Amino acid sequence: MTRAPAAPLPGLRRRALLGAAALAGLGGFDLSLRDGLLNQCRGELPASLRDDPRLRDAWQGLDPAKVWDTHVHVIGDGDSGSGLWFNPRMSRPWHLQEYVRRKIYINAACIDDRAGRVDLSFMDHLLAQCQAMPAGFKTLLFAFDWARDEHGAPLQEVSTYHASDEHIGALAAKYPQHFEWVASVHPHDPRALDRLDAAVARGAKALKWLPTAQNIDPASPRIDRFYAKLASLKLPLITHAGDEQAVIGFGEHLGNPLRLRRPLGAGVRVIVAHCASLGHGEELDAQGVATRPSNFDLFVRLMDEPQYRQTLYGDIAAVAQANRADVVPTLLSRRDWQPRLLNGSDYPLPGVVPLIDLRKLAARGLLAADRVELLRQLRHHNALMFDFVLKRSLAFNGQRFANEVFETAPFFAR
Ligand SMILES: [Zn+2]
Repeated sequence: MTRAPAAPLPGLRRRALLGAAALAGLGGFDLSLRDGLLNQCRGELPASLRDDPRLRDAWQGLDPAKVWDTHVHVIGDGDSGSGLWFNPRMSRPWHLQEYVRRKIYINAACIDDRAGRVDLSFMDHLLAQCQAMPAGFKTLLFAFDWARDEHGAPLQEVSTYHASDEHIGALAAKYPQHFEWVASVHPHDPRALDRLDAAVARGAKALKWLPTAQNIDPASPRIDRFYAKLASLKLPLITHAGDEQAVIGFGEHLGNPLRLRRPLGAGVRVIVAHCASLGHGEELDAQGVATRPSNFDLFVRLMDEPQYRQTLYGDIAAVAQANRADVVPTLLSRRDWQPRLLNGSDYPLPGVVPLIDLRKLAARGLLAADRVELLRQLRHHNALMFDFVLKRSLAFNGQRFANEVFETAPFFAR
């Protein structure tokens, strides 16, 4: 496995970049520069880190063969013939928001940004990180469908990125010891139902949507046949809820957790990505109410309704980010929810150094102070391992996430 060099950020100095990042709307991400701006992409763990007893501790009580990271993105620009696609606006400095965001993802994933190296260096680095985990550990790789119009036609110019079912399914088939895969099918695609059959035939474990970026209204009655199909295939729906803060989007209202009553009512198992931990949503359960509860409170409401006890789940991807960490004490305290929470990393985001402020987590009593330096080091070598050890370490009033939050494989047995 070749080591990916640290992706440089030519022509932009740290301060300038942070200013640009703030301008780019990344201000909502609550950035901290305490641990630096860039991932240093240091490659393989040195022996001193590899043999650290706190790493062994993190695996205590877990069967690695059941530990699946349920939220991993695959990015690239198609320079290996993969069909992976970034909106070309993101490569043009005069589209500052998109440009900065792409550069940040490139660095977080330790991608070599030279032509012909982008796709392959992403995969090299992801595989190297998986190989450093105990045998049996797997990640769920997400495909990502186009944004589509009302007729299901792709809207390329307003899509952020694209990863085809074919390519992501092929990666899982090529590396079955490391990857499972999750299809992404827009419900308005005229071929949607056939594509679901094809995805299941190729071993897809779930379906992924990002409604605000893909122009999907989960509450639309138009989707009922699609939901009936998902339910009959027993294919879970992993869908983003809460604000997305996308550079290109179709409206945060599409991320309102209450819109998920539609698939839940159809008997679909729904995993709410990030437990809807950002933003506020319209009170859709009552007419004429002007208050806008937090999306997380709306998620809590749904989680506490008995009729959804068997079908509604939340993933804890990215919840340790500074802008989301307010929800962590609730997620840790709700012992009755532990069987309904699934760990995922949202890779490559854990590799974005300023997003997770370790010392702030420690100051809030959510992370033992003696873990901060270890995690700070890990992040520059292996963002997947960093995220896993961090999540295993989070605690509130002495309570950590239960083992079953990490042993996610049984959830996906159909
Ligand atoms: Zn994600």
